Amino acid sequence: MGLTINQIRDNTTRARHLMQRSRAQGFAVGAFNIDNQETLIAIARAAQKLSAPVLVEVSDGEVKAIGLDNIRDMVDNYRLEYGIEMYVNLDHSPTVEDCKRAIDVGFEFIHIDISQANHDATTEDIIAKTKEVVEYARFTGALVESEPHYFGGSSNLHVESIDYEEIKKTFSTPEGAKAFVDATGIDTFAAAVGNLHGKYPVPKQLDLELLQKIRDSIDCQISLHGGSDTPLHYFEEAAKIGVSKININSDMRFAFRKELEKVLAENPDEYAVVKLMPQVYAAVQAVVEEKIQAFGSANRAVM
Ligand SMILES: [Zn+2]
Repeated sequence: MGLTINQIRDNTTRARHLMQRSRAQGFAVGAFNIDNQETLIAIARAAQKLSAPVLVEVSDGEVKAIGLDNIRDMVDNYRLEYGIEMYVNLDHSPTVEDCKRAIDVGFEFIHIDISQANHDATTEDIIAKTKEVVEYARFTGALVESEPHYFGGSSNLHVESIDYEEIKKTFSTPEGAKAFVDATGIDTFAAAVGNLHGKYPVPKQLDLELLQKIRDSIDCQISLHGGSDTPLHYFEEAAKIGVSKININSDMRFAFRKELEKVLAENPDEYAVVKLMPQVYAAVQAVVEEKIQAFGSANRAVM
């Protein structure tokens, strides 16, 4: 069932209030990727148990796997069933057209990421396309997130360790952040301060001093991508500095697969795999709960 424009605008207004609360109260909201219904159930249960606002997010491949309308409907159905504060974010959208489609079906949050799709995209191109999405999003009030250049990793398990000297070259700067926000009018700036997509053999380190300088240089929201495998104390400090949104994917995927392998091995004669899934989504739920606690977003939901 499609949402009416009034319903979409009510949702985006509540989403904007959530971002204001996150800033005023010093907590961050988790943005958790889904590529199946069980993972959505895990997120909804964690949100209900901890009274936490949550974002469910889908990247381009996840949209192709599930479908935009299905994602919107499933999130709305579980939101009502569980009585929780839950929104949808389009994560790392490679094109303006994909963003417009997600805005049309009522996604509250839109991440336009031209540089990830094309690492050679010029700054002018990135700014022009980001601005086009910002302008289109005015119709529904959706919040637009972006960043001026590509940063590393992928949402998977990496065996290589992290070359911090290489990665530092891709860090955001306070001046660059301000120039990009001023040029595009985005609602949320995706900062690169040591956060990296994926899981690595060594823990990640975030440059919180740089994060504070970026916070001081811009007025809009700040997001952190690549939150998996980050020591939890960084999240607590980042939320206090003023990060509003933290993306988590790989840690959930890892828990999902590991638990699925375990439960399949333990039940070789069970062909109704659906009966084995509660154990799998319980494992993913535990990951989501741990992040919610670290982000400070438990008991922050407003219904
Ligand atoms: Zn990301």
